Amino acid sequence: AEEAAALRKSYKGKITGEDVPLPIGSFEDLITRFSFDKRLLSNLLDNHFVEPTPIQCEGIPLALLERDILACAPTGSGKTLAFLIPLVQQIISEGKDQSGLRGLIISPTKELANQIFSECMKLAHRVYLDKKRPLQVALLSKSLSAKLRNKVVSEKKYDIIISTPLRLIDVVKNEALDLSQVKHIVFDEADKLFDKTFVEQTDDILNSCNNPKIRKSMFSATIPSNVEEIAESIMGDSVRVIIGHKEA
Ligand code: ADP
Ligand code: MG
Repeated sequence: AEEAAALRKSYKGKITGEDVPLPIGSFEDLITRFSFDKRLLSNLLDNHFVEPTPIQCEGIPLALLERDILACAPTGSGKTLAFLIPLVQQIISEGKDQSGLRGLIISPTKELANQIFSECMKLAHRVYLDKKRPLQVALLSKSLSAKLRNKVVSEKKYDIIISTPLRLIDVVKNEALDLSQVKHIVFDEADKLFDKTFVEQTDDILNSCNNPKIRKSMFSATIPSNVEEIAESIMGDSVRVIIGHKEA
C-alpha cells in the first residue's frame, strides 16, 4: 500500500471512489493479480509496451474489476491501451460461450477510430477465444456497414467494434447490428462525445445498449464540468481517475 501511494504521488494521480484497488507496477503484475492471458502479455511485450503508463497502472485494475471509470489524463499518455488491454482480457475471460458484440468503443472521429483499431489489432494478434475462434475486432467502416446491412457479414461475427457515433447509429437503426449483448462500452475523447454536437447521438447509443450489466468508461484529456455532470448521471458509482493536472 505504501508503494502504491508512492507510485501515485510520482504521477500526481488522484483517484476518487469507493474500494479503489492498488495500481499495477508492471504488466507482469497482471499475471499474478488477475488471471491475465499470457498471449496478451506477449503481444504487449512484442510491441514494445514494456512498462505501463500511469493511466494504465490505475485504469487497468479498475476495469478488470468491472468498475465504471471516468478517466482524465494528458494527450499522449496511453489512454488507448488503458481501455483496450482490460477490454481484450475481459472478452477472453468471459469465454468462448459468449457470442455477438460485447465490446464497443466510440470515437468522435474516423481518424481516431482508425488509430484505436490498429492498436487493438496489436493486442488481438493470435488471441483465440476457442481453438477455432480468433478474437474478432472490426472498425465500422462504410463498407462494413454496407455488408452488415446486406447480411453479407453476420452481425454476430465481431466481439469488439470501434465506431464513430453516426455510423453506429445508422447500422443500429437499420437493424443491422444488435447492441443488446454489449457488456463494455468505452467513450474515447469523452469531452467531444458529450459536447453539444454529439450528445444526442451518444444518448441514442446508450439507449440501444440495453444490457443492464453494461460497464461504462470515459476517457479524455480534459473533463469540462458538463461532461462531469453527464458522467455522473449515466454512471452511478464510478471511479474518477485523474493523472497530472485537471484542465477545464
Ligand atoms: P492518448 O490517447 O492518451 O493521447 P495514446 O493512447 O494515443 O495516448 O498513446 C500515445 C502513444 O504511446 C502511442 O503511440 C502508444 O502506442 C504509446 N504507448 C501507449 N502505452 C504505452 C506503453 N505502456 N509503453 C510504450 N508506449 C506506449
Ligand atoms: Mg486518445
